[in-house]
Amino acid sequence: MTDVIFERLALIGIGLIGSSISLAARRGGLAGEIVCSSRRPETLQAARDLNLADHYFADPAEAVRGADCVILCTPVGAVEVITKAIAPHLADGVILSDVGSVKKAVIEQISPHLPASAHLVPGHPVAGTEQSGPSAGFTTLFDDKWCILTPQQDVDRVAVEKMIAFWRGCGSRVDVMDAAHHDRVLAVTSHLPQLVAYNIVGTVTDLESHLETEVVKYSAGGLRDFTRLAASDPTMWRDVCLTNKDAVLEMLGRFSEDLSSMQRAIRWGDGDALHALFTRTREMRQKIVDAGQEIDVPDFGRNNPDGSP
Ligand code: NAP
Repeated sequence: MTDVIFERLALIGIGLIGSSISLAARRGGLAGEIVCSSRRPETLQAARDLNLADHYFADPAEAVRGADCVILCTPVGAVEVITKAIAPHLADGVILSDVGSVKKAVIEQISPHLPASAHLVPGHPVAGTEQSGPSAGFTTLFDDKWCILTPQQDVDRVAVEKMIAFWRGCGSRVDVMDAAHHDRVLAVTSHLPQLVAYNIVGTVTDLESHLETEVVKYSAGGLRDFTRLAASDPTMWRDVCLTNKDAVLEMLGRFSEDLSSMQRAIRWGDGDALHALFTRTREMRQKIVDAGQEIDVPDFGRNNPDGSP
């Protein structure tokens, strides 16, 4: 149990990430009270049914009143409109944060609208699932996962320390880095794999009409793992592509070049080149396992996350 860090925590958006923050903050005793807002009545009702907060508001401007910490938990594409709506109602000295998968664009969208007394400490919990909505959240989502904070240089140090303590209290390991650096790193580790998965499953979907039964029947032969990623929220990933355009295009360019090299190796029967590549890629997986980011069991620990047989 950590000490209360915020007297009143306002979560704007209460889907997978917002609800998981609420559950983790309650587990850690991190907030005196938690309020939430969501634009659709059915989402707000679902949050109420799940008892995810102490108070519920349709209007985000109402929700932020008196809050000493506000976390935007909506898709990246919505943060500017929401910030404009809540800005006049923010308490003096409030910490404003978010959970967006892209950080530079979020700062550009939020900063111009914030009152001078607000402290902007953007965040990105590098944890999630392909599920959406309040019922998808769970208390342990952030346990031992990284949360990256990207405050600008001149942001109040106390505000940054509070957000570090908050995310640690939610179970995360915390790193602080520059927003542009975050966006390049995540373009490699998250955005590129996601877009490759969308592309593979898109290609398969086009072929499905004449191979239909076999595609689903034999999907365990590789396709299944890509469909998990490709089932992720379309709005979230549309916004990631549009707001991290430069880094994403750079990584897709590199990927296309490497794909062409592979095509050439296959066409020319260059088994040595293929074998060398497939050996290097195995080493990458071992590094990820060694770093504690994956479990070395055949199903990736999906059925038994603790690695038990
Ligand atoms: P989610 O489950 O779909 O929930 C989204 C929440 O935002 C809902 O409360 C929704 O409200 C609200 N919302 C959606 N569009 C909105 C709009 N245009 N204006 C105002 N509110 C809007 O999404 P999530 O998975 O929690 O993801 C939220 C953000 O977290 C993502 O965009 C992403 O950048 C970041 N993130 C996601 C993951 C992940 O794996 N999912 C991981 C790390 C970070 P209504 O339902 O009432 O419309």
